[in-house]
Amino acid sequence: MSSTNLDYPFAARPEPGVATLVAPGVRWLCMPLPFSLNHINLWLLGDGSQCVLVDTGLGDAVTRAIWSEFFAEFAQAGEALEQIVLTHYHPDHAGNAEWLAREHGVPVWMSTAEYLLGHALLTETAGYDVPNMVAHFRRHGLDEARCEQFMQRGNVYAKGVPALPRQYRRMIDGDHLVLAGKRWEVIMGYGHSPEHAALYCGDLRLLIAGDMLLPRITTNVNVPATMPEEDSVMRFLQSVRRFARLPSDTLVLPSHGLPFRGVHERIAQLQAHHTERDALLAEQLAQPRCATELLPVLFPRELDMHQLMFALGETIAHLNHLVQRGRAQRRTGNDAVIRFVSLH
Ligand SMILES: [Zn+2]
Repeated sequence: MSSTNLDYPFAARPEPGVATLVAPGVRWLCMPLPFSLNHINLWLLGDGSQCVLVDTGLGDAVTRAIWSEFFAEFAQAGEALEQIVLTHYHPDHAGNAEWLAREHGVPVWMSTAEYLLGHALLTETAGYDVPNMVAHFRRHGLDEARCEQFMQRGNVYAKGVPALPRQYRRMIDGDHLVLAGKRWEVIMGYGHSPEHAALYCGDLRLLIAGDMLLPRITTNVNVPATMPEEDSVMRFLQSVRRFARLPSDTLVLPSHGLPFRGVHERIAQLQAHHTERDALLAEQLAQPRCATELLPVLFPRELDMHQLMFALGETIAHLNHLVQRGRAQRRTGNDAVIRFVSLH
């Protein structure tokens, strides 16, 4: 995906655990991730005793060691954490929320859907369990060998998020939170996670975009086993269009990649990208095909299990989108595999 026409005011991301100022009272922190996507950006708002942390990094020993060192220096400098805000439930964002909230005695802001879904994944309830995910992939044609590998992997969420808070401060779309003395509007988004919170500060012309607007990679859109016919592509595109009302000089702070200006250009690029992906798949549907067969059309490369989970989910999302738009039909064969075929 092209990232031209975007303006990147910072040439490189900070070293892990080193805070860099990106706007008055807003610091950028980076934490490592053990995936091909190798880092996550976190944001620290305010200073002194009023600091607010937005997202917390993966809940692993590496990140926690960096946090321990960071907060030791932080305390020595007379600073204190006052609140935590989570954009969404994913492990790289929510992994240390419970631990940091407990250590610092501070509240955590979340949306209700993200709070409940995170807990459902930890406790494997409400259909958010590995066997249900594997059954969903099997219905979309995934072979038994890889189904078995997913079963063997077990609950990956619980590895990245050892615990979640058992109480939270609820935020809903359109709320204005006062964080470190500034007003931030909550802009909810869908299609990547159930109720993803982005935060916009008009005073600072800053958007903390979470995973909803990324500069180089495109946000994963996914279909969970519990909502197999969900049109996550439509949800995502409708959500990003909500950022179109922001001023063109808004500095976007994404969870991955470099901060950028060019919110309108990026929205247009994402729309074009998804239209192109739809067309690529639609061309392949003269004969009924299942999502696993179509996976290489969108992802023509070797995928590890972590990438396969996202890629298959994204392929299903695009196929559901074609069905929703009347361009394809969903058929379940005698072998219980769901296939998609063009309507014209
Ligand atoms: Zn995410």
